[in-house]
Amino acid sequence: MAGSDICIFCKIAAGEIPATLLHEDPHLVAFQDIHPQAPTHLLVVPRKHIPSLNALTPADAELVGRLMVEGARLAAEQNLAETGYRLVVNCGEWAGQTVDHLHLHVLGGRRLGWPPG
Ligand code: AMP
Ligand code: ZN
Repeated sequence: MAGSDICIFCKIAAGEIPATLLHEDPHLVAFQDIHPQAPTHLLVVPRKHIPSLNALTPADAELVGRLMVEGARLAAEQNLAETGYRLVVNCGEWAGQTVDHLHLHVLGGRRLGWPPG
């Protein structure tokens, strides 16, 4: 588990690594994914270092709610509401999680396959 001192998303949230922020508030930041998998591929990240869904507790319920609400707001801002989009959280190795700091993918701008790979 990456500690917050070496975590890339903690550093982006703290402004220590440059990223073009599409949203920031006291709880969350959002920015473009560096390797986009769709015409729109954003990440919404809590400022709090939570390694994965596995680490959530009931005390995080409000924060996770904020994450989803902001993901949907950004999707609408990107004009994805009508065509559709996907909000995704990968958890653990088999789901393809590569950054050990909870993040919500906002994916859209093309037809997305189901089931996912
Ligand atoms: P996951 O595979 O679900 O853990 O998603 C991690 C995502 O973070 C991947 O889609 C990466 O392309 C993205 N990513 C990694 N480093 C950066 C970075 N410095 N800036 C923006 N996105 C990043
Ligand atoms: Zn972190």
